[in-house]
Amino acid sequence: MSSSVGRFANKVAIVTGSSSGIGRAVAVLFAENGAKVTITGRSREKLDETFRHILRSGISSENVNQVIGDIGTNDGQTHLIESTIQKFGKIDILVNNAGALITDKNKKIGIFQGIDVFDKNFDLNVRSVMELTQKAIPYLAENKGEIVNVSSIASGPQGHTEHLYYSVCKAAIDQLTRNLALQLISKGIRVNCVNPGTVITGFYSAMGLNDKEVEKFAEDMKANADCIPRGEVGKPEDIAKLIAFLADRDSSSYIIGQTITIDGGSTLVMGMLAGNSALHNE
Ligand code: NDP
Repeated sequence: MSSSVGRFANKVAIVTGSSSGIGRAVAVLFAENGAKVTITGRSREKLDETFRHILRSGISSENVNQVIGDIGTNDGQTHLIESTIQKFGKIDILVNNAGALITDKNKKIGIFQGIDVFDKNFDLNVRSVMELTQKAIPYLAENKGEIVNVSSIASGPQGHTEHLYYSVCKAAIDQLTRNLALQLISKGIRVNCVNPGTVITGFYSAMGLNDKEVEKFAEDMKANADCIPRGEVGKPEDIAKLIAFLADRDSSSYIIGQTITIDGGSTLVMGMLAGNSALHNE
């Protein structure tokens, strides 16, 4: 497909964390809809897989810019921006998707995890988003561009004790979204955020679960209506469609600074009622 056809025709997008999972689905969807995309991650092998996915959709390799790098480093962020400008000449859309739930090697949970674990979660899930956004703003302002952040239902308002540090970081992304949206709309830049529930991606193996454990986790979630009322875990493509909606000015121009939950109903369930068998008649 030519980049002059489709809802993202002539748009240039950077999708962080596009070597896997949600970011990969976003990059493929954007490219299928006419965008030129910079795809990025630390793993060349996984990034090549995303590249092959895009080519299989009939997209020209000219429309794809591959950047290997660590988003947590100043050099990695600068290279990502500069190589996009070098290859495509502008930036219209930034999807801040790269992230991970970094756990404690000593298997501690909540506030008992080492503070170094908080630092690692914060550096990847918050600091890198802020720094990359700062670097992209001048380019996004030139084109009245869009930013979509990827948060999580872990951001609250419910507590998320076990993974306290990750959840605090994602709550920060929600508030960052609101603050950025207010400050940047005067430059014509829109900022919004998606908050996914359970989506089976590389996320869970990055947390240290093996394939069997991930499979069991997904089956347990699906089987329990108090976990996911919809009865299915989310697919990366489900989240990608919402991100595309928020990145597409024609579809969502009046949505500013919102955090939109996409979780199959998980956050609707009230623990007090779900956990009280006396209230269930069926
Ligand atoms: P994946 O593990 O499949 O993808 C994470 C992506 O982030 C990979 O492309 C990975 O690339 C990249 N990444 C991680 N660390 C770095 C780094 N230091 N530098 C550069 N890239 C990095 O997980 P998901 O697709 O599920 O995660 C995407 C987003 O969705 C994350 O922000 C996550 O917090 C959020 N989310 C996920 C949920 C889920 O259930 N899956 C639920 C709610 C939110 P590489 O390994 O090549 O470096």
